[in-house]
Amino acid sequence: MADACDICKAADSMSPLLEVSLLGVLTVWVHQCESCGFRQIRPRLTREELALIYPDEYFDSAEDIGYCDYDRQAQRYERVAYFLAKRIRRLIPPQGRLLEIGCALGFLLHALKRYTSLYVQGLDVSPFAAYFARKMYGLDVACGTLQEAHYPSEHFDFIIQKDLLEHVTHPREHLLESSRILRQGGYLWLITPNGEANLRPLQDLGRASRDAGRDELPLMEQGHLSFFTKDHLLGLFSETGFECVSMRNISIRRGLRALGILPRKRKTLKTIKRQDIVRPDRPELPHGKEDHFQRLFEQVSREMEKRYNPVRSWPLYFYQRQLSQVLDRLPAFFTIGLDFEFLLRKE
Ligand SMILES: [Zn+2]
Repeated sequence: MADACDICKAADSMSPLLEVSLLGVLTVWVHQCESCGFRQIRPRLTREELALIYPDEYFDSAEDIGYCDYDRQAQRYERVAYFLAKRIRRLIPPQGRLLEIGCALGFLLHALKRYTSLYVQGLDVSPFAAYFARKMYGLDVACGTLQEAHYPSEHFDFIIQKDLLEHVTHPREHLLESSRILRQGGYLWLITPNGEANLRPLQDLGRASRDAGRDELPLMEQGHLSFFTKDHLLGLFSETGFECVSMRNISIRRGLRALGILPRKRKTLKTIKRQDIVRPDRPELPHGKEDHFQRLFEQVSREMEKRYNPVRSWPLYFYQRQLSQVLDRLPAFFTIGLDFEFLLRKE
């Protein structure tokens, strides 16, 4: 059944839990499964609604929602790639094929290309992101969803999905497709939020607004659609053909704040008045958008240049940052991080 619970497959088990606004353009309900507790936005978003929450302006830092710290991210991903490349080298052959699903502007792929001899490919639903990654870095990046990409079976040795699973409309189907295109013994490196840490602040905000009689909704700024617990994820992975090699909690401090164990930062909590939620017109198709893409491309590259800091490109700096991140991580037993990080192997 298409609308059964993605985790326990129970039919008609999802009931409304919390009304939120997705990026200020849609009003949706987070539902909760009565049999396994899994929480997800239902009904599932259509392709058109997805396009509404990820317009090209998603990458425009002048807009106050969406993806706006790419100028810092370019250098941060250089560091992530440096350490990830070491890990990948121990797992797969040096000439292997790597795919990043949800590669955004291609920062991580570009850096991985520098630190490995792998053949790297990317995929992103944003036409501008794919345009940028191709033009800026000459990367092999396709545009679309994983289901639309039709990669050959058992094709890749390593797949990266960072902050992606919570954005897809059908997580189980998405993981089955990921498993199909990965060779046996290949790896999936996946980072996704701790659903509880993700939803708790929004639930608290919703309650506070209701109690104060305000007609406001909690604002879901990142457009997340599913809220997984560790056990939901582990069950889903094993049922879609993966074995969990390792799992960690990351961003412990931010996780503790989200869960209300440490004081929250005010700026991370936002509500939106119901009358301010405006559903935009149907977005234009990407055809004939070259001029617009070119302008956005120039703007993004200018900002990246402006923010470039030579200190952040030194391996010594990489190690110093890496050390501070080691302290912000815990093994799988705890579930207090903001995000979960998994290394999975296809069985
Ligand atoms: Zn369920």
